[in-house]
Amino acid sequence: MTSPLQRILHPAADAAGIELWCKRDDLYSPAPGTALQGNKVRKLEPILGAARGAPVRPVLFSFGGAFSNHLSALATAGRIYGLRVVIYVRGEEADNPVLDRARADGAELILISRVEYRMKKDHTWLMARRAEIAERFATDKRWVWPVPEGGSGAGAAESVGQLYDEVVAALGAAPSHLCLSAGTGCSAAGVIAAAHPATHVEVYPALKGNWMASEIIGFLPDIAGKNWSCIPDYHFGGYARFPKEWIVEHGPSSPPGTCGLATIADIGEPGLPPLEPVYNAKLFYGVMDRIRKGIYPQGSTVVVVHSGGIY
Ligand SMILES: *Cc1c(COP(=O)(O)O)cnc(C)c1O
Repeated sequence: MTSPLQRILHPAADAAGIELWCKRDDLYSPAPGTALQGNKVRKLEPILGAARGAPVRPVLFSFGGAFSNHLSALATAGRIYGLRVVIYVRGEEADNPVLDRARADGAELILISRVEYRMKKDHTWLMARRAEIAERFATDKRWVWPVPEGGSGAGAAESVGQLYDEVVAALGAAPSHLCLSAGTGCSAAGVIAAAHPATHVEVYPALKGNWMASEIIGFLPDIAGKNWSCIPDYHFGGYARFPKEWIVEHGPSSPPGTCGLATIADIGEPGLPPLEPVYNAKLFYGVMDRIRKGIYPQGSTVVVVHSGGIY
């Protein structure tokens, strides 16, 4: 499976003398129309492959916020691949379209407090949850596998890095710039590690704060290139915060200005694919702004990765 690379014709790109391309990873999906698309598929591919090949079908357990794309993607993967899925959900919200769909996909959701949720990386706590799940599903705890929050587990970064090779194959050359959004930074690390030194990788954090570079470094192998930078100016106030004027369509029970199913953002630029507001609208807004500011030298080939999302 690969995703298409599409040229974006835009007056600002013409004026700057650059070529603008979009890597349509929002179309990368074994189940189009579900949250199992984009970077969440790429990140889950290694563990789903291992689970489907295991002699005993494992139970996967993971973590997510009440509107998490990862939660939704993992639940859908459970349904289409016949895997049992348990997800610990942060906070008090019990019902929203994302959670309803995950339950309909057959995932078991366990609501836990924000305080307990912080234990999600604690080894002892994780082992206790694993033992509980093993007992409930009457399986050996060897067949109960944790999946880190956001799907950012072993092999996930490398798997996302394959999109870089697809870009080079489609263009016939390494692009001068490749721009992508970041939540945990795992996907960004995968692309940085895969990138040719001639490509400058620009990472646009969707969250506020100046810790993203160190998170990315934590995911990077020692031999990774150094030709990358974080562009911290386009978080719009923090995770899932964005200008409410962006929202042109929203799902049945997601109020305007919040994220949820079928939320489409319009950032007022012609020729762009549909964007969700949490990651990709911020990314594209930032890239277009930087094109107008003359950041990319004439002759640049700028590839923007549309990482997908529920929209
Ligand atoms: C999860 C997600 C991201 C962030 O990916 P990380 O690997 O956590 O940085 C970006 N875009 C979309 C659409 C996502 O769902």
